[in-house]
Amino acid sequence: MTQTNTTGKNKKAMRVAIVSNGKKQSRRVASKLFAIFKEDKDFYLTKKDPDVVISIGGDGMLLSAFHMYERNLDTVRFVGVHTGHLGFYTDYRDFEIDKLVDNLRSDKGDKASYPILKVKITLDDGKVINLRALNESSIKRIEKTMVADVRVSDVILERFRGDGLSVSTPTGSTAYNKSLGGALLYPTIEAMQLAEISSLNNRVYRTLGSSIVVPKKDKIEIKPTRQGIYTISVDNKTMHYKNLSKVEYRIDSKKISFVATPSHTSFWERVTDAFIGDLDS
Ligand code: NAD
Repeated sequence: MTQTNTTGKNKKAMRVAIVSNGKKQSRRVASKLFAIFKEDKDFYLTKKDPDVVISIGGDGMLLSAFHMYERNLDTVRFVGVHTGHLGFYTDYRDFEIDKLVDNLRSDKGDKASYPILKVKITLDDGKVINLRALNESSIKRIEKTMVADVRVSDVILERFRGDGLSVSTPTGSTAYNKSLGGALLYPTIEAMQLAEISSLNNRVYRTLGSSIVVPKKDKIEIKPTRQGIYTISVDNKTMHYKNLSKVEYRIDSKKISFVATPSHTSFWERVTDAFIGDLDS
């Protein structure tokens, strides 16, 4: 779709998809945006091959939006509107819709891109399942202690015993990884972080005990040594496997891109806002 703008020059309408969670406030914001874009020649509402996906809800909704459009990562940019407090993947609050529309109208295609995780699950029969994670992927054994060999680029790092392991992206480092005692990574660092979930450490069993940050060139492989039911999470999805052989993690060749609007908040501001709050002087 090409439109003539006020300067008389041809301007391609921005193809916009709006996705929202089911909450009343999110639906209200989505309706408002639909109404604005329907009447505005600078925008073209579409679910197919959008230039920009607007996610309305919280970080969880942005995770869902990412998975809805993960096949379009080469061309799509995301922008998050939070209907609660400001989140890690959301740049706008629900009362800033007019500002969002203005910023999109003056958009020049600038983006902020961050690494994501490639997850390769191999089953005993050789079947391979390839997935992508924006926050993290974890592997756990619920009914008994998980025993698994951990390799980093073919070096056997340890035989892990405990509840499980999590591998997070830099942007996911502030999520589950943080609760596991992992470090916060600046979101553009091309690395993934392996964190332990309740490891067993005593005179007999030994794990590193700290999380490790692995560069893009390396691969993390987790291979359970015992048969059992393994639970693998990828962001907000969970799967169970009886016949798991191994899980491999790498930094993906693709990245997630966000619209670099003036409201794309600094990472350190988000960190202090989310975890520290206002300090008494
Ligand atoms: P959700 O939407 O309830 O999210 C859970 C919380 O995690 C929310 O407060 C959300 O704002 C926050 N969050 C999500 N991504 C974040 C990020 N990158 N940085 C900082 N905070 C972030 O639940 P959901 O939709 O199922 O979301 C799944 C995510 O929840 C997972 O990817 C995982 O990171 C997180 N999670 C955390 C824990 C924990 O901290 N113990 C446990 C399970 C899941």
